[in-house]
Amino acid sequence: MNNYLKTQINEIKKTKTISKAQLECILLCEDEEIIEYLYSTAREVSDRIFGKAVYLRGLIEFTNFCKNNCYYCGIRQGNLNADRYRLTEEEILSCCDNGEKLGFKTFVLQGGEDPYFTDERICSIVEKIKDNHPSCAVTLSIGEKPYESYKKYFDAGADRYLLRHETANPTHYSKLHPETMILDNRKRCLYDLKNIGFQVGCGIMVGSPYQEIDHIYEDIVFMQDLEPHMIGIGPFIAHKDTPFKEWSNGSVERTLRILAVLRILFPKVLLPATTALGTADTMGREKGILAGANVLMPNLSPVNVRKKYLLYDGKICTGEEAAECNRCLRKRIEKIGYYIDDSRGDHPDKSA
Ligand code: SAH
Repeated sequence: MNNYLKTQINEIKKTKTISKAQLECILLCEDEEIIEYLYSTAREVSDRIFGKAVYLRGLIEFTNFCKNNCYYCGIRQGNLNADRYRLTEEEILSCCDNGEKLGFKTFVLQGGEDPYFTDERICSIVEKIKDNHPSCAVTLSIGEKPYESYKKYFDAGADRYLLRHETANPTHYSKLHPETMILDNRKRCLYDLKNIGFQVGCGIMVGSPYQEIDHIYEDIVFMQDLEPHMIGIGPFIAHKDTPFKEWSNGSVERTLRILAVLRILFPKVLLPATTALGTADTMGREKGILAGANVLMPNLSPVNVRKKYLLYDGKICTGEEAAECNRCLRKRIEKIGYYIDDSRGDHPDKSA
């Protein structure tokens, strides 16, 4: 049996395809030795392409206003307990200045879908960041927009866009979102972004309510079609002011196994060990890297707003200054035999 599953893992690596049965075996396997083999195979693949490099993305959470009502998310419009804020353009630019001093070459502007930030305002911010920091990449993560808006952001200089698809199964999608949000539009956004020329990131929460292994398989099939440059996955963590407050959190172990499978299937993909993974397990980010992840996204937001950008309960690193987080992470990464690579960390097929 042991050898059988190891052979299957080798086969997945060789063919870069996985069957539903293989995925199920990996996710349900109780043999630690096999799972260690899965992780070491994933590490081997990522070592071959990236060596021991880990890339940093400085996350700037610039608004927690949101017009959407995703059932899992703590900054959903319906959460009247959320203390809303938006950063000014000056504050955003000063986060980037601070970030560049700390060695960051990528800034990720993430926020709720906040109508205050019109295309014009977003483009103006992107242009200024690119003017001030020409060697840095700008990533946007601001939700679903029409093609024309994405095109404007790209023309203003944005390089990358993160939009997790959340689940590729329409029924599952409808259990996580109100009727106003439909999976087809989310997918449309991702294909538009790719066609425009962005480096694109999709992704899921592991253990989101009603998620089944079949859904995760559908996610993989969708990703094989989309061919994203980045895949963001982390465990679902309940937030006390959402309809999903009673649900249990997603499993760290399952998240790690999926990270490893994704690394094996998509050798060159940029794969973050997410803050949610670090929240669910104090060593979660290290474990993520040892399962094939190669990106970390430390927080560059001003400390006074960090506790307000609460997508889920218990989020880590909401009290420290960016400089402190930066030092701490570098040390943690070195401890497990990796190092922070101070380049932009583009996808290998997209680097200049
Ligand atoms: N408005 C942007 C950014 C959303 S926040 C957008 O629509 O893309 C970024 C990601 O955090 C989400 O895509 C979701 O996958 C994740 N997230 C939200 N709530 C979460 C929760 N309770 N637990 C874990 N991850 C969560």
